[in-house]
Amino acid sequence: MTERHELPDPARRDELAENLAKVEERIAAACAAAGRKREEVTLVVVTKTYPASDVRLLYELGVRNVAENRDQDAAPKAAACADLDLQWHFVGQLQTNKVRSVLGYSDVVQSVDRMKLVTALSSAAVRAGREVGCLIQVALDAETGARGERGGVAPGGTEELATAIEGSAGLRFDGLMTVAPLVGPYAGRQRAAFDRLMEISADLRVGHPAANMVSAGMSTDLEEAVAAGATHVRVGTAVLGVRPRLG
Ligand SMILES: *Cc1c(COP(=O)(O)O)cnc(C)c1O
Repeated sequence: MTERHELPDPARRDELAENLAKVEERIAAACAAAGRKREEVTLVVVTKTYPASDVRLLYELGVRNVAENRDQDAAPKAAACADLDLQWHFVGQLQTNKVRSVLGYSDVVQSVDRMKLVTALSSAAVRAGREVGCLIQVALDAETGARGERGGVAPGGTEELATAIEGSAGLRFDGLMTVAPLVGPYAGRQRAAFDRLMEISADLRVGHPAANMVSAGMSTDLEEAVAAGATHVRVGTAVLGVRPRLG
C-alpha cells in the first residue's frame, strides 16, 4: 500500500479529526431535521485507497465501522489492523474467487447481488465456522433497464435473494444497500432513489422482519439518505479526502 498523503501522523490525525467532526455535524443535523435520533444512523467510513495508518487514526478518533471495495487493497489493510475492534464492511463488486479472502476479515458483505455469490459466501462462511451479515445491493437503475456498471440486483430480484440468504448456512440477511444511480430515471434524484429503496425494504421486511439495515448515502448525499430513513451511511471522501484515482 503506498502512502498517498504527505502529512506526518499528528497533522493527518488533526485533518481526519476535523473532517470527521464536520461529517458528524452533518449527520446530526440531518437526523434532527428528520426527527430521528442520532443513534439510528451508523457512520461507516470508506477507507478504500487509504493506508492502514489512516484506519488506525480513525479508530483512535472513535470510528468503529469501516468499509472497503477491493479485496487486494482490503486484505492486507485489515490484517494490519487485526488488533483493533473494528467492524469491516465489504461494499465492492465481489467475484466468487475472492469470497474466501473477503470473509477472512469482513463482518458484513453489503454487495450481495446474485445467487452464485450467496452460494459461495455460504460455503466459505461454513468452512470458516462463522456467521456473516449480508445486505442485498439494489440497482435502482435496473428497474428500467438502464443498468449501471456498479453491481446490484434489480428490485424485482430482491425477494428471491433474501430467501436464499436466509436459507443459507453461515449467512444472516441484514437488509439492503444501494448507490444512488448516475443514469436512468433516478440520476440526480437521490432523495427519490433512497425513498424507493426504503419502499423495497419495507416490502421485504414483511417476510424478513429482522432485516432492518438500510445502507445508503455517501459524502455528497448523506443528508438525503438520512432523511429517507437510512440506518447506515458510507462516507469516504468527506472524511479522508479526495481519492487521487477512482477506487
Ligand atoms: C467509495 C464508495 C463510497 C464512499 O464514497 P464517497 O463519495 O467517497 O463518500 C460509498 N459506497 C461505495 C459502495 C463506495 O464504493
